[in-house]
Amino acid sequence: MNDARLPPTRRAVLGSLGTLAGAALLAPRVARADAATSRVTLLHTNDTHSRLEPFEKGKLAGLGGIARRATLIRSLRARNPHTLVLDAGDTFQGTPYYNAFAGHAEFETMSAAGYDCVTLGNHDFDKGVDALVSAMTKARFAFVSANYDIDAPGLRARVVPHEVRTIGGRRIGLFGLGVSFAGLVSGSLHAGVRYQPPVATARATVDTLRQAHGVDAVVLLSHLGYFGHGAEPGDVELAEAVPGIDVIIGGHTHTFLDAPHVVRHRTGGQTAIVQVGSSGTHLGQVDLLFGPGAQVETHARWHLVDASSRPT
Ligand SMILES: [Zn+2]
Repeated sequence: MNDARLPPTRRAVLGSLGTLAGAALLAPRVARADAATSRVTLLHTNDTHSRLEPFEKGKLAGLGGIARRATLIRSLRARNPHTLVLDAGDTFQGTPYYNAFAGHAEFETMSAAGYDCVTLGNHDFDKGVDALVSAMTKARFAFVSANYDIDAPGLRARVVPHEVRTIGGRRIGLFGLGVSFAGLVSGSLHAGVRYQPPVATARATVDTLRQAHGVDAVVLLSHLGYFGHGAEPGDVELAEAVPGIDVIIGGHTHTFLDAPHVVRHRTGGQTAIVQVGSSGTHLGQVDLLFGPGAQVETHARWHLVDASSRPT
């Protein structure tokens, strides 16, 4: 697919300043930047809710479908091989595919579509932890969740708090945050998994990623919701409380952000919050543009998943 075939998208241009490198670090940093890509692309979805086929009727008729999404991902990745494909949770629940196959079909098709990293939403526990772990056998991508304290052995083996992907010579720190189970998931379905307060977890994780792992950018996959759940924080409150996150890819509230919500930090830098509704009708794109030093610029847009991305 060429540019002309893509549906028109809106573009927001954002400047984002990360942590400024000290003078002593400048020389090795510049040397590494010379060999590294200037652009890493993030493609993202959230709350796809087992919608493997396009909508047949209603106002969303003709939109969505994992095959079309996969084709769109493939064409965008062909333009920039330095691409990560990410999801912010609630992959499960919403169509008979989940009732019949308990999540295996969703994770298998997402693997074929080229997903790299996914976080967990409340509905991903709808058939319990053992069913989730069973479905994960079909997943050829990573799961991140930093604030779910996991004792359940099968799940613990499969979910990491954060991970670092080196792509095009750039180190991208990824971590996940999940919503409180209170009022959303019954105790028996999340046995061995405990919710921890996300702000403190996020601060510690950002510190680990930036200081210990020396990442070039930090990306949060969040299922907290654009607005918070009860007394718990949502993405905006989290971003305001925790500097150092370049992008929050959100979910849970099914919010469609036409342009990113940008939180500017008094300490310098900013966080771009994005979310693309639900059901896989849209595919979000965030380009991280790297200049000299630690500066990261963020460009966000979205693509409609429709017949123009039909498999060929
Ligand atoms: Zn949710």
